[in-house]
Amino acid sequence: MSHPLDTSGSRRPGFDTLAVRAGQTRTAEQEHSDPIFATSSFVFASAAEAAARFAGETPGNIYARFTNPTVRAFQDRLAALEGGEACVATASGMSAILSTCLSLLRAGDHIISSRSVFGSTTNLFSNYLTRFGIEVSYVPLSDLEAWARVLRPNTRMLFAETPSNPLTELVDIRALAELAHTHDCLLAVDNCFCTPVLQRPLSLGADLVIHSATKYLDGQGRCVGGAVVGDAERVGKEVFGFLRTAGPTMSPFNAWVFHKGLETLPLRMRAHSASALTLAHWLEKHPAVERVHYPGLASHPQHALAARQQAAFGGIVAFEVKGGREAAWRVIDSTQMLSITANLGDAKTTITHPATTTHGRITPEQRVEQGIVEGLVRVAVGLEDPTDIQADLARGLDSLC
Ligand SMILES: *Cc1c(COP(=O)(O)O)cnc(C)c1O
Repeated sequence: MSHPLDTSGSRRPGFDTLAVRAGQTRTAEQEHSDPIFATSSFVFASAAEAAARFAGETPGNIYARFTNPTVRAFQDRLAALEGGEACVATASGMSAILSTCLSLLRAGDHIISSRSVFGSTTNLFSNYLTRFGIEVSYVPLSDLEAWARVLRPNTRMLFAETPSNPLTELVDIRALAELAHTHDCLLAVDNCFCTPVLQRPLSLGADLVIHSATKYLDGQGRCVGGAVVGDAERVGKEVFGFLRTAGPTMSPFNAWVFHKGLETLPLRMRAHSASALTLAHWLEKHPAVERVHYPGLASHPQHALAARQQAAFGGIVAFEVKGGREAAWRVIDSTQMLSITANLGDAKTTITHPATTTHGRITPEQRVEQGIVEGLVRVAVGLEDPTDIQADLARGLDSLC
């Protein structure tokens, strides 16, 4: 076994180099690309070695619910990119959130979450964690005073997703981390929209980073997976301890796809962001468009924060068309190339109507409160020619004028 990337010297490799090279352990076969270790268990040289391994006296693989070399390669690479000591890969983004909560919280604890988090996250917090005595409060993401107001003596974790879906609201991660730490709480940030290429929450003071690898880390819509990144104690011991016992483990095949996905992540995130910015500028000038939500626009209320906190503005653009649901659906149904799907983070541009899909199950009052109006359309800008994405949207938009 050899490690092709030497990180022991004084000179730390650059971010793009880590994306391509970190985490690889080359076997005696001298393979160039990483192999997939499609094995559920591992063998021992002797009964004594097995005993020592099981007793935790010597490191090494035992069983793939605990560890697998392909999964480890992905974990090590993502940890290097996020700047964390440890990473635990999970079967999905949701199981990353579940594993974090069940390993670090207990009955009687309270968590505060931004109200604009991913729908299943809200469902997990409100309908499942509460059954086990964990209380939850929701606050508007960007309102730091609101976070401070609902803090209680038993608050243990703040949970935020920034930028939010679909309106791309932000929170100042550094300020939220300070608030969390003055009250002895952890800050967990779902970094799905930005990935470590655009935003590194740990370097801004967050304690835990959550990923749905299903989105940009894969980048081509193939596999479902997730990850938690943080320090060796909480993630390496606590979250890992839960995972190896409860079993929401990532499969070696999926880990291989995500591991290879990370090699092109910097290039892809910059391309997604550049195209999204072009599209947002064009949409802002279109007469059928009432409002565009994109952190890269000067009109975005938190544009300055986005420019400070993120390396670029990401691939998600939301816009409101004049004429409500009917007009929004017309724009969506007039596209020929764009994929009508609620997924995001794909090379293929996707388009969706949040009010009747991702946010269809919340009450109309909650939708109004969250700004998910009937005329809102969300586009996750892919890697096609930006002019083709624009032309596909122009068909429906022009017909509304
Ligand atoms: C998709 C998503 C999740 C859930 O991830 P899965 O891989 O679908 O389980 C969590 N957070 C955000 C922001 C997401 O977009």
